Amino acid sequence: MIRENIAAVETFIKEASEKRQSDMTEKVKLVAVTKNHTVSEIREAIDAGTAFIGENRIQEASEKYQQLGNTVEWHLIGHLQTNKAKQAVKIFDLIESVDSIKIAEAINKEAAKIDKVQDILVQVNLVKEQSKNGVYMEDLPALLLDIDSLEKLRLRGLMFIAPNVENLEEVRPMFNSMYKLFRKVQKMEFLNADIKYLSMGMTHDYKIAIEEGANIVRVGTAIFGPRQY
Ligand SMILES: *Cc1c(COP(=O)(O)O)cnc(C)c1O
Repeated sequence: MIRENIAAVETFIKEASEKRQSDMTEKVKLVAVTKNHTVSEIREAIDAGTAFIGENRIQEASEKYQQLGNTVEWHLIGHLQTNKAKQAVKIFDLIESVDSIKIAEAINKEAAKIDKVQDILVQVNLVKEQSKNGVYMEDLPALLLDIDSLEKLRLRGLMFIAPNVENLEEVRPMFNSMYKLFRKVQKMEFLNADIKYLSMGMTHDYKIAIEEGANIVRVGTAIFGPRQY
């Protein structure tokens, strides 16, 4: 089933990419969200062509990483605590969930120790949801500039998790705002940053996210089925 599901999602991604009015040309990367799924399920996905996987907890990612290693690109999509930064820089190719200078500095420090340049995205809390992490829009430019000054971090773009709404069309304008924000950020002057990625869209809303300009989508349920907690 995993193979068929990935093929179906890839088809939807292609269709949505063709529909987008935006000038986003970067190809869409499908991050298979593997949290709460087993290593053997992940292997199945990799055999079916998955090149990017997303995990949200360090402990779980670390156990899986010991078995899977660098055969795929690892994305951290969950909130990171400073005391886990050391493990995170060992595992992840892209940390998508940076939202404060404190965590950015912790990642920078650990990356320096292993002489790695760590790619990161900054998570934006566009509509100020209390329950969500992410930086508010008005605080974003200052955070981006602070991050840009950290030598071992390379800022690659923005990440956004849309609120859960009943009518999916309500999230479209939010994805569109994120796209505009992303374009603005691309025009900022940085030293080290190389802004390429806008990560938004999950199982229920990735098609809309792509139509509005996402070039990374994070999809779990549509690939692996519902998670057992
Ligand atoms: C779990 C998770 C996803 C995937 O959610 P699905 O609805 O299963 O596709 C995407 N992004 C983040 C940040 C997540 O935590």
